[in-house]
Amino acid sequence: MTCPRWCIEGHNDGERRHLAEIRDVCVTADGTGAHIPQLYFDLRQGPDDDQPMIHIEIDERPVARLTVGEAVKAGLSLIGLAGQVIGQ
Ligand SMILES: [Zn+2]
Repeated sequence: MTCPRWCIEGHNDGERRHLAEIRDVCVTADGTGAHIPQLYFDLRQGPDDDQPMIHIEIDERPVARLTVGEAVKAGLSLIGLAGQVIGQ
């Protein structure tokens, strides 16, 4: 198996592990300002995964694993919510 287009690591044939660029966002979780959590998103496929999954972590603590379809729905939901304010 060669790397899919989104993999940035250039694995050898036969490897079934792939990783895309990690994206991160600083978030204001509790409003106290005492700690600014870092929200991480990454796309990866491990040897036991039959499809690529989007992983969400907060401060490197796993929060959720989403299929590509679930990630699209989550992203559209966030845009829809934010869009209600931006569109005012
Ligand atoms: Zn790869």
